[in-house]
Parts: sequence; structure tokens; C-alpha cells
Amino acid sequence: DIAAPLLPRPASVAKFLDGQHRLLIGDDWVAAASGETLDTLDPADGTTLASVASAGAEDVDRAVQAARRAFESGPWPSMPPNERARLIWRLADLIEANADEIALLESLDNGKPVGDARHFDLPHAIELFRYYAGWATKLNGESIALSNPGTWHAYTLREPVGVVGQIVPWNAPFMIAASKLAPALAAGCTMILKPAEQTPLTALRLGQLVQEAGFPPGVVNILTGYGKTAGAAMAAHPGIDKITFTGSTATGREIVHASTSNFKRVTLELGGKTPVIIFPDADMEKAIAGAARAIFSNTGQICNAGSRLYTHPDVFDQVIEGVADIARNIRLGRGTDPQTQMGPVISSQQLDRITGYIETGQQQGATLLSGGGRPSGSGYFVEPTILTDTTHKMDVVREEIFGPVLCAMKFDPEEIDRISAEANQSDFGLGAVIWTRDIGVAHGLARKLKAGTVRVNGGGLDPALPFGGFKASGWGRESGREGIEAYTEVKSVAVNY
Ligand code: NAD
Repeated sequence: DIAAPLLPRPASVAKFLDGQHRLLIGDDWVAAASGETLDTLDPADGTTLASVASAGAEDVDRAVQAARRAFESGPWPSMPPNERARLIWRLADLIEANADEIALLESLDNGKPVGDARHFDLPHAIELFRYYAGWATKLNGESIALSNPGTWHAYTLREPVGVVGQIVPWNAPFMIAASKLAPALAAGCTMILKPAEQTPLTALRLGQLVQEAGFPPGVVNILTGYGKTAGAAMAAHPGIDKITFTGSTATGREIVHASTSNFKRVTLELGGKTPVIIFPDADMEKAIAGAARAIFSNTGQICNAGSRLYTHPDVFDQVIEGVADIARNIRLGRGTDPQTQMGPVISSQQLDRITGYIETGQQQGATLLSGGGRPSGSGYFVEPTILTDTTHKMDVVREEIFGPVLCAMKFDPEEIDRISAEANQSDFGLGAVIWTRDIGVAHGLARKLKAGTVRVNGGGLDPALPFGGFKASGWGRESGREGIEAYTEVKSVAVNY
């Protein structure tokens, strides 16, 4: 069994796990109306970590009422933006003060290496709150020049869209919750946050900190529960003005259909099949390490994972041998073990799905260069895997696997248009990565790629940089100015002198 024995848990984490895990509605932590609960598992060994309330339609209704009251008549709508900013900043400080504990909880619930949670997910979440705290006081409309200026004064207002439903997946639960809460709070919305049923714990801890920071009751409501019940009820609820969702493309489509009940505004962050393109003039050491990181970080469970590698034929062998060497040396284990470099995947269903893809890939003609195995034991582990001889006809190249599986291909170096055409040959369009020192190639290709985010010679996230996808990768953007404007309605006012 590769999962190291359970490490002792710090008292604060043990206390949190032993406590009750209820729904935050208004200012109260309450059981689900049905009394039902669901278990969240430790993916490193399949044991139960905690039981949390399982919200249903009635709970969604109660949360919508609390959020509506807070939006229409609580202290929130009349609070000056600089006070909203101060509250958001206070929440960021509280998260920072509790970051070790939250990172450990995230690692237990999701399986990711605790160092990744502590040094990537948590700092990014904290920066999102601080970045958007600044926006609360800078959300302006415009003054508009009409065709008959002497008699009219016209301007736009940006008003909060209202009650927002926020549905979060399990791959980066705390960070993605932050990416939705922070701009919505800054814009003056009220919200109902639903974490994924696989990873509800850090959202509940966040709810405690929201209360400690002193947000008015009902501004942030948190419902743990299943997608088909709580999530679907949110998508269909006529009292919710906007849904923002991160997760699978299939669920995104269901949410769009359900949202038409009242024509909710919808923002979607869906799947991806990010191409990583390596030219022979690149800094090879960095490009190889970057290509490995792009697919193996978070056990490949990243919407923007670099799952298609396109390499210039001259350096193909060097690149894939380099990436395979890194893959063979990645240390798998329990996320809470500080030695672990790659944790388990989230669930037995995901494990079966990923190993199914690795098999289908080989049946369809791909060659297994490294990995592909399942270490023994009760946890949901799979080795970092590289497939070569892959083509665009194969499922492994076309579909999102959401696991540590890389499809490596050579690109045709003749013309840049052919490279972009291959990279664009996907239903998705979330990200793309280019490794080259040639600025002409870099900018030229960046223009041609159908992707919401193009990165040259690196990766990472920044709260100021809009993030989202072309094509089936979603609707709208999170982060940056676009990320907060997505939580507003524009109102035009025209006054005749
Ligand atoms: P999912 O899309 O079903 O779940 C994401 C969230 O949506 C969860 O909170 C879930 O409870 C909720 N949900 C599920 N069904 C719903 C419905 N009908 N109405 C409203 N909300 C609903 O994702 P999954 O099944 O957990 O994972 C399956 C696949 O999704 C993965 O293999 C991967 O391809 C993809 N995925 C993508 C991302 C991403 O960041 N783009 C994140 C997680 C999963």
C-alpha cells in the first residue's frame, strides 16, 4: 500500500473533523430539512473523513430567501463600497491566519499534496480576496456621449446582479470557491455557495471565517449536497439571478437548460484539453519540467492541464524522454505526507475512468511509454502516464481525461498555420502553452490559438488575469476586470435637461 500510515492530525483539524457539519443559511448552521447527510472520503485510503448535511430543494429555497433578504433589505445593499472592501480584506487576513489548517483539510479531503495546497491554492485564494477588495471601490459606469449632446446627460451604472448561485467542483475546492466569492462580494451580490459532494470541508471552514469576519447574515450561504439535488435545485430556482459554475461540460449543459426558467445570467468554466507546444529553440530544461508540471500537478485534475503535447520533430525524443524521466521519479502517496509529490485521484469512479482511458488509448493504437499502472492499496492512485503514437482520432486526444495522462505528438514544422490548426482541433479552448525564444513565433501563434489563456514559457494564475474558455470550455471569464463585471448588470440612465 503506497499510502503512508495516517499522520497525527493537529488539534484544530481534529476538532473541526469531529464537529457537526451543517448548512450555513443566514446566520445559522442548520441540518438539512430532510435530516439527510453524506459522507466525504479520504481518497488516499477510501475511509470516511466526516459526514456533512446533504441539502435538498427545501434548503435551497431557505438559502435563497436568506440571500434575497440580505440583498434587498439587509445592511449589505446600503453598505459603502469601502466598508465592503474592508470586510473582504479582513476575510483574507483570517484565511491567511488559518492557512496551515485549511491546507491540511484540503489535502485530506481532496488528496492533493499539502505543500501544493499551502503554497499554491491558499495564497492564490487569499490574493483573489485582496485583489477584489480593491475593486469594490472602483466599479464605475461611464458617461455616454449621445448624438444630441446639448439636451441630454447619459451615463451607465454597474449594479450587482443580485442573488448568485455558485457551484464548485472538487479539484481545487477552496481556490475555486474564492474565485467565485471574492468578485461577487466586491460587486455587492449575495450568494449561495455549493461545494462538490466529494470535497465539502474547506467551504464549511470558509463559512466559519465569513461569520468571524463580520459579514451581514445571508450575504454568504453555504449548502453542502449533491449536484443532482442541491445543485440542480439552484440552477432551476427562480429566486437566483445568476449561476456561476465550474465543472464538467455535461453538467454545464444541464445547468444552462435549467437556468432558462428565469433566464439567469450564467458563467461557465468547463473542461479543457490544453495543448503544450514546444519549439526546438526553447530553454529545454524549463520546457520539459513545465510540460511535466502541466499534466501531473494535482494528479492531472486541472481543467487547464496540458494534456496534449506537440513537439517539434527535432527535439521530440529529448522532450518525451525528459518528461518520462520526471514521471518515473514522481513520488506518489498520501497528500498529507510532506514527501508526496502526487496524490491520489478524487474517487474510485475517476480512477476507473482514467484507467479506462489508458486502456482504450492502447486499444486504439497508442503506445504506453511510461506509467499506466495502479499501485496496490485501498487509495485511488494511478501512475503518471505518457502515451505516444497518439492521433486526433483517439478518445484520449479528443476527450478530457482529468487525470495524469499525457498524449505526446510531433507537430508538422512546415508552417505556423498547420501547428495552430492541429492545436485548435479540439472541442475545447481553455488554455494553450508555447515554449519558444522566438518572439515572432510566440506572438504569431498566440493570435492563432483558439484558447482563453495563452501562456508562453511558463504557467501559473494571477487574480488580475482573466481566465475562461473559448468553445466548449465555457462562457465568460473569471478573474480580472471581466471577472467582477460578470457579477453586475449595466443600467443606462438618460436625463433630458
Ligand atoms: P460535475 O461537473 O458533475 O460536478 C461539479 C459540480 O457540479 C459539483 O458541485 C456537483 O455537485 C455539481 N453538479 C453536478 N450535477 C449537477 C447538476 N445537474 N446541476 C447542478 N449542479 C450539478 O463534475 P464531476 O462529475 O464531479 O466530474 C466529472 C468530470 O468533470 C471530470 O472528469 C472532469 O472532466 C470534469 N471536471 C472539470 C472541472 C474543471 O475545473 N473544469 C472540475 C471538476 C470536474
